[in-house]
Formats: sequence, structure tokens, C-alpha cells
Amino acid sequence: MDDVQVAVVGADPAGLLIALGLARAGIEVLVLDTGRDDIASANCAHDWSVLPGLDRLGILDDALRSGFADPRWCLFVLRTGERIDFDLGAALRGVTPFPFTLHLEHSRLCGILEHHLAREATASVERDVRVTGLVQDATGVDLGIGTADGARRVRVRWVVGADGTSSTVRRLLGLGFPGYTWPERSVVALVEADFAALGYASTTLQVDDRHGAVVQKVNDRRWRYTFAEPLTRHEEGSGVRIPRVLSAVLGEAPFRIVDWHAARMHERSAERYRLGRVLLAGDAAHVTNRMIGHSPTSAFFDAFRLIEALTAVLAERAPESVLDAYAEDRRRMFHQHVSPIGAARKHLVSQISDAERLETELESYRRTSVDTDELRDVLLLNSELEDRELVPPSAR
Ligand SMILES: Cc1cc2nc3c(=O)[nH]c(=O)nc-3n(C[C@H](O)[C@H](O)[C@H](O)COP(=O)(O)OP(=O)(O)OC[C@H]3O[C@@H](n4cnc5c(N)ncnc54)[C@H](O)[C@@H]3O)c2cc1C
Repeated sequence: MDDVQVAVVGADPAGLLIALGLARAGIEVLVLDTGRDDIASANCAHDWSVLPGLDRLGILDDALRSGFADPRWCLFVLRTGERIDFDLGAALRGVTPFPFTLHLEHSRLCGILEHHLAREATASVERDVRVTGLVQDATGVDLGIGTADGARRVRVRWVVGADGTSSTVRRLLGLGFPGYTWPERSVVALVEADFAALGYASTTLQVDDRHGAVVQKVNDRRWRYTFAEPLTRHEEGSGVRIPRVLSAVLGEAPFRIVDWHAARMHERSAERYRLGRVLLAGDAAHVTNRMIGHSPTSAFFDAFRLIEALTAVLAERAPESVLDAYAEDRRRMFHQHVSPIGAARKHLVSQISDAERLETELESYRRTSVDTDELRDVLLLNSELEDRELVPPSAR
């Protein structure tokens, strides 16, 4: 039997961030992962609101060196060619030192997190292992782990389940994942094409009831193109349909599809984010539609808040009830803000077929784009998803 303070199940952004934050506070942390599939077309744009948290963890400089920063995004109305531009730099002046989107591929971000984690004496990462069992009592948790060499058990004081949408930890706790599944799947293509020459900003919401998409620049050659298609179309055919979709949008401009993936989209949240000595974070706790990117953003915010709460509890600077506050705050935030805001933005991009209704929506965005104060208010909505601090500075 080992004796570990915290086991983090899942070594993708949520799990790696939490492990790094805990290790930086001198907490002994064991990260367990089945082995990640590095999907080239995975998320690549990180909202300005998560950047102060990355900076606090000391990884923002490396992230900016590896990716790039861009303060501009736009709404592009496909039918009319209208472009409504937004400048974070002007709107967020004085609000944050990082008024831009960080464009950095998922695998590079995870690589940076792992690199920093490897330098922490109290952290260890085990790959190609699967958490298969969990029994808890008043003082800790026995985790069952399956490896290529057989099964073993590890005794830990706390467990964080950051093991994604199909979370084993959540299932072992017997917690439901109520909500609904969208009638569409997300299809993401990594494409070599010159979207910039066609007037796309590094982050572009392409508004159209037929060809609505989110288009994000990955690097000088590659762009990430995300759209939704009905579940009534076979998933096996998605790969054939992507070139047709891109041709309809790009016209004669050349393109090459480098990679793609498709997935069902859900709006779901666990019944509770804490049960005894086990906590849930990231996609294991909640998921929203994959068009708009609020799942990764709120996974980051879960991580920042959980680091704060668990560190204070383990250092005996805060009572365990702060972990209940984490669980309740994050769940309320998902239901009241993350999910409805994500759904509204998805709706704007691809679901408004009524011309009058669309015009009303666009008019509001046109006004916002030229009114710095109004734009700041809209942008601040994202940072509010982090919610209140759980532990006073004196107890951190
Ligand atoms: C393939 C893929 C594509 C995605 N595409 C999009 C997208 O297009 N748009 C979007 O908004 N979001 C997308 N997401 C979601 C987005 O990446 C997440 O919101 C974000 O990465 C935060 O996720 P997470 O760290 O909470 O969980 P995940 O990224 O799902 O990571 C969970 C980790 O847990 C590990 N794991 C699972 N079960 C076990 C177990 N029993 N034992 C040990 N380890 C385990 C997995 O190997 C994985 O590394 C995608 C996620 C995946 C996995």
C-alpha cells in the first residue's frame, strides 16, 4: 500500500493543471492515465479569461512561446460577406495584462504541463494504467488500478476524477450524468488553407444556418474548422462530407484536410461534484456543446478553484466544507451560465434561419463591436465563469 495525498485520474488539461497546482504547493500527487489519444484537430484556442490562471501556475510564458497571441476575433456572415470585428486589446485595456486569445494546440499545451510537472519532486505520472475500482472510508480511498502487469491498489487521501466525459470515477461513485444529447454531432477538421486571405480573423464565428462554423487559426499553415451535422447522417460519411462543406465555403481556394474527428455533443452535468473524498472536475463533471469551446474553458476554471480549495484543506488552513463550496459553485455555474451561454452562441452561429431574427442579433453585435464599454461587459461574462474565490488570500 502506498500513501499518497492526492490521486488525479486523467492526464489531459484539467487533470494536469490540477496536479501541477497541487505539486507546486508541495502536495504529493499521483496522476494516472490510460494513455491519451493525441488528436491533432483537438482544441487550439484558449480564451483570455483563463490566461491569468495559467500565468499563476507559471506556464503562460512557455505557452506564448509555443503558440501565438491574437486580440482579434470576428463574426463573418457567410451569405452577405459582412464581417463584424472585435478587438480585445482595446476593450480589456486595464482589465488584464493578457487581452488576447492564446492559440496553442492541445497536444502542445499538455506537453508544456507535463514538462513542468516532471520538475516537481512531489508529482509522479503513470501512463497506460486504468482506474477500475474505488472504495472510500473516513480517512482515505483505496483505488483499484489495472496495468499491463496485473491489478494493484493504492491508498490515497483524496481523489480527483478528471477523466473526461465517460468518467470511470463518476461511474464508480454511482453518480448519474443527467442532461441531453444534441441532435447533431460536432465535426472538426484540421485544414491547410489560406483562410486569412479570405478575410477570416484568427478566431471567426462563421454565421450561417447551413454552413455555420467556428474557424480558428492553429499556425501559419493550419486552421481548425468546426461545424455541426445532424445525427441522422451516418458518422462514417463525415469524412466524405468535409471536402464538400469546405468547397461550398472556400469556393476555388485550395485546401488539404490533415486530420478530422467527429463526436456527439452533450449538455450534461454530474448530480454532485463531491462525494466524500472524491471530487470531479472538467468534462468528468460537466460537458457542453463542442462548437463554442466552453467545456475546455470551464475545465480550466474548475482546475484553478480546486487547486485553491484542496491546497488549503490539505494544509489545514481551511475546513473541508470549502470542497463542498467548490462542488456547489462549479455545478451552479455550469447550469446557470456555462451551458446557456454556450447554447446561445451555438444558436447564433448555425441555427438562426429567420432573417429578421438574425438581423436583430447581428445589430446587437454591430453595436457591441464599436462600443468599447459594451464589448468589455460581454467579454467579462467569460471571466465571471471562474466565479468567486473559495479561500481568502490569507489562508492560501
Ligand atoms: C478526442 C477529443 C476531442 C475533443 N474535441 C473537442 C472539440 O472539438 N471542442 C471542444 O470544445 N471540446 C472538445 N473536447 C473536449 C475538450 O478537449 C475538453 O473539454 C478539455 O480537454 C478538458 O477535458 P478534461 O481534461 O476534463 O478531460 P479529457 O480531455 O476528456 O481527458 C480525460 C483523460 O482521462 C483519461 N482517462 C479516462 N478514463 C480513465 C481511467 N479509467 N483511468 C485513467 N485515466 C482515464 C483519458 O485518457 C484522458 O487523458 C474533446 C475531447 C476529446 C477527448
